[in-house]
Amino acid sequence: MADQRRTPGSQTSLREANRGRIVDAVKKHGGLTQVELAGATGLSPATVSNIVKELSESGVLSTSKSMRSGRRAQYVTLAHASGLVCGIHFSQRQLRVALADTGMTVVSEHEMPLARDHRSDNEIRRVGMLIADMLENVSADRDELLAVGIAVSAPMDAASGMIARPGILRGWEGIAIRETAERALRVPVFVDNSSNLSALAEHRLGALRGHSDAVFVEVSDGIGAGVIVGGRGYRGASGSAGEFGHMVIVENGPLCRCGNLGCLEAIAGGDAIVESLKNRYSGLKLADVIVRAMAGDDVCIRSIADAGSHIGVAAANIASMFDPGRIVVGGQLARSGELLLGPIRQVVDRSLATRLAPPPEIVAGQLGARAAVVGAIGFAADQLSAFPAAAAGPAELRAAFG
Ligand SMILES: [Zn+2]
Repeated sequence: MADQRRTPGSQTSLREANRGRIVDAVKKHGGLTQVELAGATGLSPATVSNIVKELSESGVLSTSKSMRSGRRAQYVTLAHASGLVCGIHFSQRQLRVALADTGMTVVSEHEMPLARDHRSDNEIRRVGMLIADMLENVSADRDELLAVGIAVSAPMDAASGMIARPGILRGWEGIAIRETAERALRVPVFVDNSSNLSALAEHRLGALRGHSDAVFVEVSDGIGAGVIVGGRGYRGASGSAGEFGHMVIVENGPLCRCGNLGCLEAIAGGDAIVESLKNRYSGLKLADVIVRAMAGDDVCIRSIADAGSHIGVAAANIASMFDPGRIVVGGQLARSGELLLGPIRQVVDRSLATRLAPPPEIVAGQLGARAAVVGAIGFAADQLSAFPAAAAGPAELRAAFG
């Protein structure tokens, strides 16, 4: 309200601001009645009604009649005339699902924990039901879902569409993820590694915008990276480039879940950090380590700094190879901010000090834990536009995919 008083002469800008509040509220809740919209925005029912009418006519919002508490109500959702794309991110312990329009504006989002050794078939089935609910919440028909992008937190083999390294996501090994998901979800599915997709999202919408040669490093329970070369994701000959977490940085070092010894992930990944603190603090999760470190706990601070130094060694090697202008650090551990970034930067700067070129900037990601799911949406939307049948509509598209 204070903002409105500051601009008494500008009815237009007030109306603009009110429009923005209404669209934001609809995006946040997926769908609302006009009465709920008035409550959520603090605007009068008459103002809400006028703006909803205006935005429906211009194709931004869509309204439908519904019943609420036995009374007729006008239900308001975002218009999605050009269809919707769904992004899914399966990581070791977390599932995130988001629905967006083809312009990558997210209209509905869900997050839930996964069991450590969850099974792909169960989870794909569960996601199918969740997507149906999410579509219903934004008043969209099943036919409006054009495609699904899946981000998997494991190296992917492009030819087989399977996980390229055993031991990473056990419940997904030997599964042709795309085919399995297409059978269950009955819509075109596109699959890629989560670090590649996070890199794509940060490149398009976040901290890597405008950087044509850059690296995205993801540090969560595991560690991965997505490399952008010449403005495009670099995938390598088999599609599994960016196995940053499984670069050997200590010869004959600790055993990694991939079966190798001395991988970066086995030394600096979230699981390794938690394991190293086990004797001091039992039952601690990575999120607790971050909270403690940020509150000033020396032991946790040192543990994150040590991980940062090791990641710095690997990042310096990557930087020597690809000469990125910027390295963005994302994933759960990036929430610890400079406690992690500082040591990475220190090692990278020191390792590259003898070069004439300046070292890459090391900054935190801007999309946080949503990066992979947003990237999955962008990836699926890109693939759709690469298929001419996409323009003909969902039914034809599905026919084109058999
Ligand atoms: Zn490994």
